[in-house]
Amino acid sequence: MSDRMVFDLIDKLNTEHALSRQEWISVIDGYTPEIASYVSEKARYWQQKYYGNKIFVRGLIEMTNYCKNDCYYCGIRRSNRNAERYRLTKDEILACADLGYELGYRTIVLQGGEDPFYKDEDIAAIVTMIKQAHPDCAVTLSLGEREYDTYKLWFDAGADRYLLRHETANHDHYRYLHPEPLSAVHRQQCLRDLKQIGYQAGAGFMVGAPGQTTEHLAEDMLFLKELDPEMVGIGPFLPHHDTPFADEKPGSTEMTIYFLGLLRLMLPKVLLPATTALGTADPLGREKGVQAGANVVMPNLSPTDVRKKYELYDNKICTGDEAAECKNCLANRMRSIGYEVVASRGDHYSVTV
Ligand code: SAH
Repeated sequence: MSDRMVFDLIDKLNTEHALSRQEWISVIDGYTPEIASYVSEKARYWQQKYYGNKIFVRGLIEMTNYCKNDCYYCGIRRSNRNAERYRLTKDEILACADLGYELGYRTIVLQGGEDPFYKDEDIAAIVTMIKQAHPDCAVTLSLGEREYDTYKLWFDAGADRYLLRHETANHDHYRYLHPEPLSAVHRQQCLRDLKQIGYQAGAGFMVGAPGQTTEHLAEDMLFLKELDPEMVGIGPFLPHHDTPFADEKPGSTEMTIYFLGLLRLMLPKVLLPATTALGTADPLGREKGVQAGANVVMPNLSPTDVRKKYELYDNKICTGDEAAECKNCLANRMRSIGYEVVASRGDHYSVTV
């Protein structure tokens, strides 16, 4: 495939917002820095059209690093005996949310491992508590796979959004990354349940995950097109020293940035974070992500003493900073490239609250 043909496929994606499996393969394998900068330029058109130069912020509270799952890539997997475990109390979580509110955040994200310590009702109570204290805040949950009724309970308690990366759309690759009883079938069902209940739902995948092929990535794009989520989270795979994938090579920053642009072209209104993993892989990763179409950043709000313990991969950035420092640092970074961090809920373009 010549470069010319890849440029033509990008033009097609930019007008039709969809490609076939074979076309995706050509676009992914056809990566060159020139094509990537063409994608970024087109992606910025849609970013500006729907969101202008405004960057939405989400205050991220990492509420527990206990996890019953054993994902081969993740530093807080059950089998990692070296992980120092912690969980935040209800009061600690509310104190973090209050601090986030003071800092101007209008979305609070609760993320964690799958920790059975918190009963469904506990999470519902935490959501209600945050919404009562801050009715103008959105609450996003990212607590893994549950059943329909649990997601419904949390939605009725006031949760607005849910992040659950599909990780990889291909079932064999899913098995390569996750031992049983986890399955692609159940994870994808969760995403459909979340959408049906009315959440703004987020899917996504790691770029350069072990065992990942171009075909898998093409399937990820087709899956996302079909699911049509409000949010897509992607970042490079980064190894963690205490996991079975410790010696695997990290995903590429350039490819991650390329995919951010491709996602903006495929789903022009999507909420697209420039992730912490991208900022870890490259000191200017988040800036480059925004310049390729991302429009969300997620500064850390977790108490400083637990941050190092929520270590999904090695060398995670921002583990030593206070919440206010994270906020200022990101605001300055965004300003340096002509973008402005805004204090609003930052809903999907199609959502009117
Ligand atoms: N337990 C929740 C939250 C998972 S952590 C859930 O199941 O959704 C959030 C995301 O971090 C994961 O979805 C995964 O894509 C990413 N992640 C985990 N380990 C990683 C690693 N080693 N490198 C890069 N990203 C990783």
